[in-house]
This record gives sequence, structure tokens and C-alpha cells, in this order.
Amino acid sequence: MRDQYGREINYLRISLTDRCNLRCCYCRPEVAQQLAHSEILTYEEILAVCRAAASLGIRRFKVTGGEPLLRRDCVFFLRKLKQLAGCGKVTLTTNGILLPEVLPELVRLGLDGINISLDTLDRQRYVQITGADRLDEVISAVSQACAAGIKVKLNCVPLQDTSEAELLELVTFAQKLQVPLRFIELMPLSCNNAVQGLSGSEIRSRLTAAGFTLTPDKTIYGGGPAVYYRLDGQTPVGFIEPLHGKFCSCCNRIRLTAAGYLKTCLYGHSGVDLRELLRSGADAAVLRQALVQAVSQKPLGHDFEHAPAAFTMNEIGG
Ligand code: SAM
Repeated sequence: MRDQYGREINYLRISLTDRCNLRCCYCRPEVAQQLAHSEILTYEEILAVCRAAASLGIRRFKVTGGEPLLRRDCVFFLRKLKQLAGCGKVTLTTNGILLPEVLPELVRLGLDGINISLDTLDRQRYVQITGADRLDEVISAVSQACAAGIKVKLNCVPLQDTSEAELLELVTFAQKLQVPLRFIELMPLSCNNAVQGLSGSEIRSRLTAAGFTLTPDKTIYGGGPAVYYRLDGQTPVGFIEPLHGKFCSCCNRIRLTAAGYLKTCLYGHSGVDLRELLRSGADAAVLRQALVQAVSQKPLGHDFEHAPAAFTMNEIGG
């Protein structure tokens, strides 16, 4: 599918649930009302959307949340998705806490990759950021995932008060395990206006000040917008800079929220309510038509730099 600006849309992010076992200060800081189970798409409904999407050229599927592994039978869903005709890569993004118990099954079903969120290796800071004392479990999950042979990437959202020492610890950890580490600029939401992120260039300056040499790395490590550098010629470190390195002009993605709304841009509301369509008996042709129509209206770009977005990230999946 191409949108009105000629961008090829081939990537769908699917939020399985709005529920999470963490309360990260920049994602969903307040105790928000949760969706009722009846408001969340069933696996059959999500698969119907994925089938339509695959028939229109969507090749990469990222399963997200909330915390996707909190949803019962998440592995069953991942297996079905992986078996879908036309489906290329299926990857998962998780905070890692529940990962070890499902790892063997994820390996067996052929999952193409796992992104694990890890903002710090300092236990007190982890509690401060996420509201939960689960760092040891996450560290162990990362090691187990690497040992299991699944492709792992680490995602970190650095904050203004993330110290140089924390950044160094993260880089060293990633280098030891030889996994790509990506730093993501914090996207301003109305729920996180008390929190300030670090820009990509601020992080690079701090890494340089700490003695690292950053060399641009043109290797393509996935389907995303990260720009990579090698630190001291070693493990690649990526920077995802939605604000200071705006990449909307090459955005290739759409998002399905847990409540079944297909968002064509993370920021705004443009899209289509697929739950309403699905529950009023839409067949595959109607679904395809709705996807094509929504994609054709995909906005040119987000507006995070002018006004914070009015949602919590767990509703959508990042
Ligand atoms: N629970 C899963 C996880 O931790 O990966 C999936 C959902 S979480 C919303 C997906 C990613 O979005 C995480 O890496 C998280 O750090 C990131 N994220 C959440 N809020 C963000 C924000 N305001 N700006 C940038 N990234 C954000």
C-alpha cells in the first residue's frame, strides 16, 4: 500500500492489551482506567485484520502493548500470526519480566526478534522510573533471550536525570552481550509533561564526553528508523529521534490499538475504527477497503514538537 505522499506502508504494530505490569513515568504515569475485556479485540479479530493487511503488502508485524505477555495465550496468537500467509517478520516488544517462561515456545514458533525495554541498570533508578523492583528479572530475561538464540535489541528512553554512568553501564552491558542498544527520544504526552527526555545529540555528547568514539554505521539492522553508530568500533548503538531527527517522511507503519482503532500516525487520531467494522460483520473485502482508505489519508507527519499528544503510550504500543 502507498499513501498519498508515496510512502510504502509495510509495517503494522499491534497492541494486544492496554494493561502493563509497570508504570513508567513517561508512558502511563497515572492510574488510568483500563479497557473492559469486551472492548479489546479478540485474537480472531486481530488475525482478520492481519490477514487483510498481509494481503495488501504488510510484511512486518510488531506485537506490543501495554505488556503483550500479560495477555493470556499471547504465544498462541504469535504462532498463528507467524503462520499467516504472506506474513514476513513477527517481532515482539516487551519489558522482559514475563519473558523467561515463554522463551522456549517463542524459539519454537520462529519469532524473528524481541525488543526489550531497559532504561537503566541502577536498581533504585529502575524503581523510580517504572514503579516496580523488577530489574534483576529483566536483566536475567535479556541474558536468557540472548542465550536462546533469538535476535534481541535493547530499547532505552533516557531522561534528563539519566546519569552518564547509567548510559555507560547500558552500553557496556549491550557490548558484553553483543546486542544492539537503541536510545529513543521521549515523545511528549499530556500525561508525562513533568518528565524531560534527552535528545539524541545530548546522549551522543555524553557518550563522547565519557571517552567513546562514535562512528556512523550504515548497516540496516531492522525495519525501523534508528540511525546507528558504532562505539569504539564495537556493538552498534542506535538513536531513534522522533523530535530532533524527525523521520515521518520515510514512515512505513500503521498501528492497531488494543481497542481495534487503526491509527495511521502515532500522534493524531487519523485512522479507522476497525472494531466497529468487524463487529458489524465486515468481510475481508470490506476490511481491505477500510485499510486502503485509511492509509491513503495518512498524515504527512506528527506534531509532537508543537503540542504533547493526548494519550498514554500503553493504549497504542509505542
Ligand atoms: N511493554 C512493552 C515494552 O516495554 O516494550 C511494550 C509497550 S511500550 C509502550 C513500547 C515502547 O514504547 C517501550 O520501549 C517504551 O519505552 C516506549 N515508550 C513509552 N512511552 C514513550 C514515550 N513517551 N516516548 C518514547 N518512547 C516511549
